[in-house]
Amino acid sequence: MNSKEYVQSVYKMVEKRNPNESEFLDAVKEVVTSLEPVFERHPEFMEAGLLERITEPERVISFRVPWVDDQGKVQVNRGFRVQFNSAIGPYKGGLRFHPSVNQSIIKFLGFEQTYKNSLTGLPIGGGKGGSDFDPKGKSDNEVMRFCQAFMAELQKYIGSDLDIPAGDIGVGGREIGYMYGYYNKIRNTRAQGVLTGKGLTYGGSLVRTEATGYGLVYFTEEMLKDAGRSFKNRRVVVSGSGNVAIFAIQKVQELGGLVISCSDSNGYIVDENGINLDLVKEIKLVKRGRIKEYVDHVPTAQYFEGYTGIWTIPCDIALPCATQGELDAEAARTLVKNGVIAVAEGANMPSTLEAIDVFLENKVPFGPGKAANAGGVACSALEMSQNSMRYSWTFEEVDAKLKQIMQDIYTSSKEASEEFGFGYNLVAGSNIAGFMKVATTMMAHGIV
Ligand code: NDP
Repeated sequence: MNSKEYVQSVYKMVEKRNPNESEFLDAVKEVVTSLEPVFERHPEFMEAGLLERITEPERVISFRVPWVDDQGKVQVNRGFRVQFNSAIGPYKGGLRFHPSVNQSIIKFLGFEQTYKNSLTGLPIGGGKGGSDFDPKGKSDNEVMRFCQAFMAELQKYIGSDLDIPAGDIGVGGREIGYMYGYYNKIRNTRAQGVLTGKGLTYGGSLVRTEATGYGLVYFTEEMLKDAGRSFKNRRVVVSGSGNVAIFAIQKVQELGGLVISCSDSNGYIVDENGINLDLVKEIKLVKRGRIKEYVDHVPTAQYFEGYTGIWTIPCDIALPCATQGELDAEAARTLVKNGVIAVAEGANMPSTLEAIDVFLENKVPFGPGKAANAGGVACSALEMSQNSMRYSWTFEEVDAKLKQIMQDIYTSSKEASEEFGFGYNLVAGSNIAGFMKVATTMMAHGIV
């Protein structure tokens, strides 16, 4: 069997074994199609059944999360932790609280996380978790009770040398704080290394909050530099208005770019004078309100219902930072028609596979989330290092390390792509560079 036949036959098996898991299957397809030349050069990887093994999670945990709402009514949510691959280190990956969460989404995120974590060059394996709990409209007390109920079960499966969750959509500093407090209480410990994204007074790292957004912009800066360009005076569209989007906007503005739009799950705003980020922070982080409130304060700005229309705004640089599948082929064609010069993903798989093809066919430099948004987990690993040392680095020290990591990820992705005959293709390059380290380690460990 040649490498192409091998990859196709394993993908067919994965499809058969995981029916109705479209997000997971898309994530697998995107990675495995890049790996054909790798298996051609390394037939020993085929003999060791590497593809069959990496597409099957080491462990999938699903559990009941019962909690009581403010009306005294019992609510039941479903919790997940997928421990995907621990070849190069303990499982590491965020927790997502969103009504759309299901096993397919958590598996897709855990699979992606494995190669993202490998790309950072740090010793962390891949995992992901979460719940279909919707924090929107819940009181602080309800969120706390839910987090405690969730952690009551999750604590059985995590640990600083085993599995270290962090935040993701719907899980920010507040939720990490509640889960960390409860973990320590019921385990009678003060295990700083068990979660990352912690507050600065109890083991958190400076820059962790900003890391994914900043890292995305550092990565995009490398893409632009390679083309002899920069952010200066460029029109930039950033979707989302959560953690990743907000700090991406902040860094783009620092570098002289003009961010003209951002969004939430209801709609998007356009402010041709440049987004007032303090106002967005006030609306989304402090009041936990809706992005449309922006136009109440800035009458010259406009609000549009629906979140996909954001890609029709003519811009130079597009940074999708909301959620998976938010940028489809039609949106990609519109961006290309409007002359976009770079697209980089702050969210996980926001571009559909068809959209990615449109960018690649039109030679638009495209930074996939696996590489471009790895700054968050990289900084989480730096938080783990500081926890182990019981020491804190300064903001500047962590930021410099983050920037170096993002530059290294860019270089290794670009070089792997060229080495394996893909030319300038950061999708293939990041898949290959991430995979090689995991594959080499799995070969060293034998069949385990
Ligand atoms: P947040 O919860 O802080 O923000 C998510 C943002 O996306 C909000 O503006 C939200 O709008 C919007 N959004 C959520 N769901 C949808 C939807 N179905 N359609 C349109 N907009 C939506 O999450 P993060 O910023 O942390 O995460 C954003 C993305 O980045 C995710 O894909 C996540 O996996 C990825 N990521 C996050 C990392 C991190 O460190 N936080 C690290 C690496 C990747 P609303 O306010 O209406 O909910």
